[in-house]
Amino acid sequence: MPPVTDPTDDVVARLEALKAEVERSACCQLGATRSRLVFGEGDPHADLMFVGEAPGYHEDQQGRPFVGQAGKLLEQLLAGIGLTRERVFIANVLKCRPPNNRDPLPAEVAACEPHLWRQIELIKPRVICSLGNHATKLLSGQPHGITKVHGKPQLVRLGERQVHLYPIFHPAAALYTPSMLQTLKDDFARLPEVLAMPLPGDDDEPAVGATVSPEAKRSAALATSSAPAAPLAPAAPLAPAAPQDLADPAGAVESRSDGEPAPGPTEQLGLF
Ligand code: URA
Repeated sequence: MPPVTDPTDDVVARLEALKAEVERSACCQLGATRSRLVFGEGDPHADLMFVGEAPGYHEDQQGRPFVGQAGKLLEQLLAGIGLTRERVFIANVLKCRPPNNRDPLPAEVAACEPHLWRQIELIKPRVICSLGNHATKLLSGQPHGITKVHGKPQLVRLGERQVHLYPIFHPAAALYTPSMLQTLKDDFARLPEVLAMPLPGDDDEPAVGATVSPEAKRSAALATSSAPAAPLAPAAPLAPAAPQDLADPAGAVESRSDGEPAPGPTEQLGLF
C-alpha cells in the first residue's frame, strides 16, 4: 500500500506539486518509453532516505519504487532494524525505467537529477543511503565505486544542508551474490548508528568532516550536461569513473527486471 500522507502538510503539498511537474515534463527520452513515472514515496519528513538507480519492470508497471524482488529484500532489511518502508523515503536517480533495465545514460542522469535534488531539499533527511554505484557516485560527487565506499558514512553538503551519505550495495546485486548479501546485511545493521550520528548544526555541533561543495559535486557518470541549473545541483563535472569501479567482478546480473528476462551483458547495470 502506498503511504498515507496528510495533504495539508506543506512538504506533502510541495512534493505532490513536484511530482505533477515531473509527470508533465518530458525531461528526457525515457518519458516516451515508460509506463508510469516512479517519483518515489514514503514519509515526507523521514530522517532516512534511500536512493536507488532507476525503476525496473514492476516499478514501471505500478508507479512505485522498489516493489519487486529487490524491494522485498529492502523491506526485510528495514524490518531488521525496526523500520518499515512507510517510515523512510524511497526514491531513485532516474524516475523512469530505462528500456531493458539498461544502465542510465549520462544525459538521462543529467536530465533527472534536478528532481532528486529537489526531493532532498524538501524532505531534509539526516541520512541518505545510496544503493549501488549510480546513486553513490551522483550523491558523493566522487568517482569511487560502491565496492570501495560501502558501509562508510560520509558527510556531504547538498545545497544548504549537510547529510550523512551512507553507501551500501544495491539489494538487486546482493540477491545474486551471497557474500554481497552478507555485506549488505552487515552494513544495514549499522544504519541505526549512522542515524544517531550528529550533524553540523545539531545543538551547535561544529562543522566537521569532508564535505562536497556544490561546485565540486556532479554525477561521476556525467561526461557532459545540458541540464538547467537546479536548486541543489552541483555544477562542475567530475572525471569519469575509474574502470575498476564500473566492473562487475562477481559476474552477477542485475535483477531490476524482477521477473523480466535477464538483461544481456551490455545491459547489465553498474551496481558494484
Ligand atoms: N532497483 C532500483 O534501483 N530502483 C527501484 O525502484 C527498483 C529496483
